[in-house]
Formats: sequence, C-alpha cells, structure tokens
Amino acid sequence: MSVDPRSDIRVLPAYKPGRSPADLARELGMADAIKLASNENPFGPLPSVIEAITRAAAEINRYPDNGAVELTAALGAKYGVKAEQIALGCGSVTVCQQIVQAYAGQGDAVLFAWRSFEAYPLVVAVSAAQSIMVPLREDTHDLPAMLAAITDNTKIVFVCNPNNPTGTAVRRAELTAFLDAVPPSVLVILDEAYREYVLDADVPDGLELMAGRPNVAVLRTFSKAYGLAGLRVGYLIAEDPAVAETVRKTGMPFSVSSIAQAAAVASLEASAELAARVAQTVAERHRVQAELVRLGYAVPESHANFVWLAVGEQTPVVATSLEQRGLIVRPFGLEGVRITIGSPQENDMMLRVLRG
Ligand SMILES: *Cc1c(COP(=O)(O)O)cnc(C)c1O
Repeated sequence: MSVDPRSDIRVLPAYKPGRSPADLARELGMADAIKLASNENPFGPLPSVIEAITRAAAEINRYPDNGAVELTAALGAKYGVKAEQIALGCGSVTVCQQIVQAYAGQGDAVLFAWRSFEAYPLVVAVSAAQSIMVPLREDTHDLPAMLAAITDNTKIVFVCNPNNPTGTAVRRAELTAFLDAVPPSVLVILDEAYREYVLDADVPDGLELMAGRPNVAVLRTFSKAYGLAGLRVGYLIAEDPAVAETVRKTGMPFSVSSIAQAAAVASLEASAELAARVAQTVAERHRVQAELVRLGYAVPESHANFVWLAVGEQTPVVATSLEQRGLIVRPFGLEGVRITIGSPQENDMMLRVLRG
C-alpha cells in the first residue's frame, strides 16, 4: 500500500535536473564546462550588491519584511506605479503560480502559446486547470489564433514577450489589437522576463500597454538582466491594485528572503552599471546571431539574452556535440536548441563548435 497523490499530480513529469558544469567537466576531463542553458547573466554580482547581501546576512535570525516595503517602494518609484499595484514573489515563476492558483482552478482554462515558457503547463496542472496551447506561427505568438481560442472557460492568457525559448517578440500594433479584443473578464499576463534586453522601439513595454486596462498585468524578474537568479525575486505589476492584492493572497508568507530583498534594492540603485552589462550582452547577441545566420542556421531575430537554433531533427545532435566540447545548452525535443548569450569568450567557443 502507498499513499496516492492526486491523480493529476501523479502524471506530472518529475523534475529532471540539467547537466551541472562541474559534473560535465569531470566527465570530459576539462578544467571547467560552460553553462549556456538557463539564460543566466554571465556577469557575477556587483560589489555594491555583495555588500548589501553581507549587511543583510548579519540579520538573518529575523524573518524578512513580509511586505517588502523598501523593495516595493523602490520598484514603485522606478516604474511610476503605486505600491498597491505590485506583488512580489520568490522568482517570477512563483508569481506565475500565485496568479494561476488565484484565478484558475478545476474547469478553468489558461491559454498560452507553445512553445513558450516551460513553467506555464506545470503551474496550470498544479492548479487542476486546463492548459490551452496555441502553436507559434513562424516562431512567434499567433495572437489572432490565441484570441480565437478564448472561450467562456478562459481565465488567464500568458503572453511571453519576448518569447522563451524562441526570442521573438510581438509588436505594439498587434498586441494592442489583441488587448482591445480580449474580454475584460480574462486576465492577460504579459511575461516580460527579458524586457531589459529589448532594443526595438516597436516592441511595446507592457507597463505602457496596461494603462487603462484593469485586466492586464506585467511580470518581471531580477533573475535575468539583474543577475540575481540564485536569490529568487520576481514581481507582478498590475493596472488594477485588486489584481496585485489577489496575487499576494496566494503567496507563501516570507517567501522573498531578507537577503534577496536587500540585493534587489541594491541592484535597482546600480541600474546604470547593470544597463552597461545588458548593452554588452545585446552587442554579443547581435554578433552571435549574425554569425549563426552566416553559418546557415535558421535563427529568428532574438530580443532576449539567448538565441534559438531551429534545427528540428538535428536538435539532439547539435546539443550533444556542444556538450562533448564542454558547452551545456538547452535542447527542446526535435524542435531546436536554445543557447544563452554568455561572455564573448564563451560565445566564441560555442561558435567555434558550431562552425565545425
Ligand atoms: C526566466 C524566466 C522567468 C523568471 O524566472 P524567475 O523565477 O524569476 O527566475 C519568467 N518567465 C520567463 C519566460 C522566463 O524565461
């Protein structure tokens, strides 16, 4: 006899950890391996951020500020929104889960493009809601098809812009038309985890688009451009404070640690230094993208800190040949390989393998 979990949880795939660089390096007999698999920032933490972490570490016998007052105020000031419009979470993936838990349950549908962020179907399943996945068209969101897929059961639509893993972005006119047409009873979440890497002025800022639309909210994170993936801080900014309040209700108390809050505040204070790093990554993205296209790979224009190699059936071969040379990337079935933009040296190594 064993204790049965919920049947819809039993069928969920168990977490399969990615290759660890240390492990792979040992296996290959190399000094170290390079991880270009998780869209992390290649730069280590800024000295000012380490300092803030050290200061916060002296007080970890205390619970964190559950309202994250200082961080919320700093975000409010940065974006010109009220504290009531903000909901923080332990990484934006947790905020995703809080949103779905709050708004969708059994019998409800959550709509998103596919492929898109891998966490969406998982958090939907955990809430016992149904995922409706609308295929990408030419690696990009097919917003008219998504609109047509909305039914009376639809509670939430996720639009990941730029999209993970393809790096593509929807433009202002098409996203505005979509938001104009979505029924006001459907919550639209614009997942902008990679917003800081967007240069194209025609790729809209979700915070501008949500103005005047109480059913729209934006999701952002400190994990990518801000380089705090290991500390887990993400947030929602909603046009309607009631949405943020609802999302806060499904959050675990104290889930954003005092160290994470301090590091996030320090990172917002260092935004000029961080912007310079983002500019370097974007310059590398342009270089890598151009070189991959020159080599004959099909690479859609990326607006994020990664590129998508649509290599189809060659996906396992491409991923394995990179791995055998100490480069860990992220393959997706027989669709393609997502490669994070690393440091110039890391990108050169990756390009050297793909040239061969
Ligand atoms: C990386 C990523 C996130 C953020 O993850 P965190 O939990 O904040 O580390 C959210 N959405 C997308 C699409 C991502 O790629």
